[in-house]
Amino acid sequence: MAVLVTGGAGYIGGHMVLALLDAGEKVVVLDDLSTGFRWATPEAAEFILGDFGDAALIDSILARGDIDAIAHFAAKIVVPESVTNPLLYYENNTAKARILLESAVRNHVPHFIFSSTAAVYGEPASNPIFETDALAPINPYGRSKLMVEWMLQDVAKAHPLRFVALRYFNVAGADPKGRLGQSTPQATHLIKVAVQAALGHRDGLDVFGVDYPTRDGSCVRDYIQVTDLIEAHLLALRHLRKGGDSLTCNCGYGRGFSVLEVVEVVKHISGVDFEVRIGARRAGDPAALVAGADRVRDTLGWLPKFADLATIVRQALDWERRLHNLTLGRS
Ligand code: UDP
Repeated sequence: MAVLVTGGAGYIGGHMVLALLDAGEKVVVLDDLSTGFRWATPEAAEFILGDFGDAALIDSILARGDIDAIAHFAAKIVVPESVTNPLLYYENNTAKARILLESAVRNHVPHFIFSSTAAVYGEPASNPIFETDALAPINPYGRSKLMVEWMLQDVAKAHPLRFVALRYFNVAGADPKGRLGQSTPQATHLIKVAVQAALGHRDGLDVFGVDYPTRDGSCVRDYIQVTDLIEAHLLALRHLRKGGDSLTCNCGYGRGFSVLEVVEVVKHISGVDFEVRIGARRAGDPAALVAGADRVRDTLGWLPKFADLATIVRQALDWERRLHNLTLGRS
């Protein structure tokens, strides 16, 4: 059987493709290359250029009958952009996911793995956050993803489809073998921005708010290494194929770092004292998000390997250097 990976040319989806191929799985990548890269998909995987919201295209892929699982990564993921352009997020993340799910049901695909987000919790009452805590997203991004979780729950009750929804905390780092990492030049995510600043690929870094109710005033996040995150997806696939129940799990380590702490680690590991400007809050940011990660460990048997922040930063720096050289080589 094969796994269809939407968004497989992107950062997290691309690591899924590598891990599936490493595990000997057949992989079909579907990506419109809006933010992903064609070179991210190895020869061993089939690559289809297209939109996961194109019902006829999805039907034609699923009708072949060799796909038993969809891992759905393709999405818009930038919180401030979701605040200024909410309809883009409801279209791309919610409405198109409905089309994909409809095609999955129509073509009897039994397993679905969904990239959800800690943003479904909004501003949590306390940390760590557990899956049973209140769901109250404070931005369109979180709402656009939560609606898909609800669709999945309803679809799984009405049809023979089971799912695992993984609520990602802050994904960072790169493939330990150096094959892939975060490659979007205009990426907005903190560790990416910080390593770019350290390597002189951008002019310093702005800290978005130091007036939050946290230990140093900057926002606290649970940074999860991308290969560890993908390992949870492989376990989820195994769980579903063994007949396991539908499941929703947090993916994080249960510890948080503030923005200022992350900046210090990047400065220390890189040895570069780049410029840091203290700025105003960014729209849609909760003060702190730390995963209660018992369920993913207990239910799926997840055993992370790369929780050390210095390791994550080192991987991100190594990839950023490599990417820079690759890009120079191509231009
Ligand atoms: N952040 C920052 N400067 C940046 C990028 C991010 O201060 O250049 C902060 C951001 O406001 C948030 C945290 O870092 O508090 C993590 O943001 P990121 O965009 O990495 O992930 P998010 O939590 O929004 O998914």
